[in-house]
Amino acid sequence: MSTLVYLEHAGGEIDEPSLQALTLARAVAGGNMVAAVVACNSLLQAPSDALAGHGVSVVHVAEGETFESYAPRAVAEAIVELARRVGATAVVGPGTERGNEVFAHVAALLDLPFAANCVTAATSEDGADVTRVRWGGSLLEVARVHAPTTLLTVQPHAVAIETTADAAPEVEAFAPQLSDAARALRVVDRVGASTGGISLADAKVVVSGGRGAGSADGFGMIEELAALLGAAVGCSRAVTMAGWRPHTDQVGQTGTKIAPDLYIACGISGATQHLAGCKGAKRILAINTDPEAPILASADYAVIGDMHEIVPALTAAIRAAKSA
Ligand SMILES: Cc1cc2nc3c(=O)[nH]c(=O)nc-3n(C[C@H](O)[C@H](O)[C@H](O)COP(=O)(O)OP(=O)(O)OC[C@H]3O[C@@H](n4cnc5c(N)ncnc54)[C@H](O)[C@@H]3O)c2cc1C
Repeated sequence: MSTLVYLEHAGGEIDEPSLQALTLARAVAGGNMVAAVVACNSLLQAPSDALAGHGVSVVHVAEGETFESYAPRAVAEAIVELARRVGATAVVGPGTERGNEVFAHVAALLDLPFAANCVTAATSEDGADVTRVRWGGSLLEVARVHAPTTLLTVQPHAVAIETTADAAPEVEAFAPQLSDAARALRVVDRVGASTGGISLADAKVVVSGGRGAGSADGFGMIEELAALLGAAVGCSRAVTMAGWRPHTDQVGQTGTKIAPDLYIACGISGATQHLAGCKGAKRILAINTDPEAPILASADYAVIGDMHEIVPALTAAIRAAKSA
């Protein structure tokens, strides 16, 4: 029995959703060591050191020019090649947008079912029993996956990372055999996010605006508060639909899922699809004119009032406190 885990890296470092996937993978592996595969580009730094204490025996690094940019089919082919080589009975990965896309390709290539966004998993007689997040986070589904090889991804920020006493794993590089189809999809350009260099997904504080901001210009005060707090700017879908902010700023089911220490939601009603993206926040501060707004049920703190008055007042108070 062998469990293979696909790891992603951000800026060269193995990211948190991947380490969370490793923790759940060890449960699937019954506590045994797992093997890991990571697609390498020139940014990847010392994966062996980063994976010490995560129960990984060998980290297989897929190398090749194709992996310099995001190439989901190519990564899937690398995973499939390795899964066959190590005789994997389970293949686990992070349930990020990219992780789920890669696993959809893996499932198609292996003609197997795939359970996305799991929060628990345990092997059963003919597959695995899983609990997974469905419908944008509004329900948890308990399911049994019947398959000779269990394919699953782990819901980001739903599993706490647990470390072990294991030493750093060996690193083995390999050059996967790729089909022509693997090279068909590649990144040709990158457009910088409007979040001032702070990634929405990783930010510790996010200041977000909704329809209540009133216009694209209404985000000036949100950007100012965010800059003061070293925060990223987010928004609701009402805002991206109005063209006030780019889709890269959207928080929610069809946007980015975030888990900051603090989420400040300004003029956002708190629709289920929005909450699906921010329910991982440790604290939520809602600023809303409507005392009945649904977001208040999820908020730890609330200010009932006009964001056009509250946000500048908050910024001024923080600025004054900082310079005192
Ligand atoms: C399949 C699907 C996927 C979706 N995915 C997403 C998603 O990923 N992310 C997302 O956000 N939405 C998503 N939506 C849309 C979602 O259902 C809501 O329509 C959207 O989140 C509403 O955005 P909002 O809260 O900014 O606007 P509204 O619902 O219009 O709320 C505006 C809020 O601002 C308050 N307000 C108004 N003026 C002020 C003021 N001056 N000061 C303070 N408060 C004020 C109001 O009281 C209200 O609560 C999705 C919908 C569907 C069907």
